[in-house]
Amino acid sequence: MPVLVMKFGGTSVATLDRIRRAAKRVGVEVAKGYDVIVIVSAMSGKTNELVGWVGETSPMYDAREYDAVVSSGENVTAGLMALTLQEMNVPARSWQGWQVPVKTTDAHANARIEEIPPENITAKFAEGMKVAVVAGFQGVSPEGRITTLGRGGSDTTAVAFAAAFGAERCDIYTDVDGVYTTDPRVESKARKLDKISFEEMLELASLGAKVLQTRSVELAMRYKVKLRVLSSFEEQSDDAGTLVCDEEEIMESNVVAGVAFSRDEAKMTLVSVADRPGIAASIFTALSEGGVNVDMIVQNIAEEGRTDMTWSCPVDQVKRADAAMQKAAQDGVINYDELIADEAVAKVSVVGIGMRSHTGVAAKMFKVLSDEGVNIKVITTSEIKISVLIDRKYMELAVQALHDAFGLDKVA
Ligand code: ADP
Ligand code: ASP
Ligand code: MG
Repeated sequence: MPVLVMKFGGTSVATLDRIRRAAKRVGVEVAKGYDVIVIVSAMSGKTNELVGWVGETSPMYDAREYDAVVSSGENVTAGLMALTLQEMNVPARSWQGWQVPVKTTDAHANARIEEIPPENITAKFAEGMKVAVVAGFQGVSPEGRITTLGRGGSDTTAVAFAAAFGAERCDIYTDVDGVYTTDPRVESKARKLDKISFEEMLELASLGAKVLQTRSVELAMRYKVKLRVLSSFEEQSDDAGTLVCDEEEIMESNVVAGVAFSRDEAKMTLVSVADRPGIAASIFTALSEGGVNVDMIVQNIAEEGRTDMTWSCPVDQVKRADAAMQKAAQDGVINYDELIADEAVAKVSVVGIGMRSHTGVAAKMFKVLSDEGVNIKVITTSEIKISVLIDRKYMELAVQALHDAFGLDKVA
């Protein structure tokens, strides 16, 4: 039988009623003759609550126990989904990550899937089970402990299963009806895309568009998984939603495909460090060992052998960065005058493979922002994206102005 993977996100399984509605969708695919693997998230809000409980109990928590707690939300929805399907006379069974097993690295809270042996589930399909309901977001480490895949990780579970089982398609059911030119909650004129290339989706996801976890797009690209994003709230035809696919499959596209943003950023500046070979290595090694995910980096002009180093990182890592720099100074690795943190910045990015062949996108982006009176604090570019760091209070304004200026509400 052909295999189909269907993933239901938090809002799509938020209540028993919604689980029933999702189960009906699954029943439709079973009736078409598919063996279905359903990946479920925790009920919406549940994972946040669990993360909160861990932080309240132990601020510098042990990541193994964090995983033990935060993975549990998915166990509930997996069991409830299997029960709901059984009530509809669809033969279904639930699986937690370790039971499959979803083998991952031991990087707790941010583990990567290494292997999903299909045998256990395939054997059950052979016995007549029609639906395997798998708890998303979780796996098991080489030592046999529960791991989680990072926030939004159920998308990655879904794509990894689609790859492991050679599924015909991986359908990601969520609370929007596809991938838009930007988050439709921030720009009401955002337009749903029928297709988007893997490369562009990868950039949008890694720059903040949380509709798909970045790693899920990487896996889909590597293993050629047919990946579709669609709504669990409306009746869906076979070509509904957005298909994430190779760029060759897209006939026409705008130079800029979309605008992404990341709200909770911080800009940190280490004032007056020695301007000598190896200083950047010392600073960023210390930050990385301190668990800080540095994003943008700027080294300012040096004066009299001293320079300032600026970087951005998630705002909730500012304290860690501070601790890492203090430790490096105590260890005599670096010395500096002070560390300044601006905790009210956001990153806004424009993404499009058209930038490979079109010049002037950066200039236009900067002009649009300056016309709106928005000051740019840091800039980074790559082949198909331009990102700027700006004051958080201007984030929505910047997203809307860029969306408008690049004509994203219209088809090319
Ligand atoms: P789920 O719980 O189903 O995994 P998420 O909340 O993780 O859903 O992701 C869906 C959300 O992603 C949407 O509600 C939307 O606000 C947000 N989003 C951000 N950028 C985009 C985009 N470019 N297109 C569609 N949705 C986006
Ligand atoms: N429940 C997890 C989270 O909220 C995983 C997911 O929904 O994809 O991050
Ligand atoms: Mg999600």
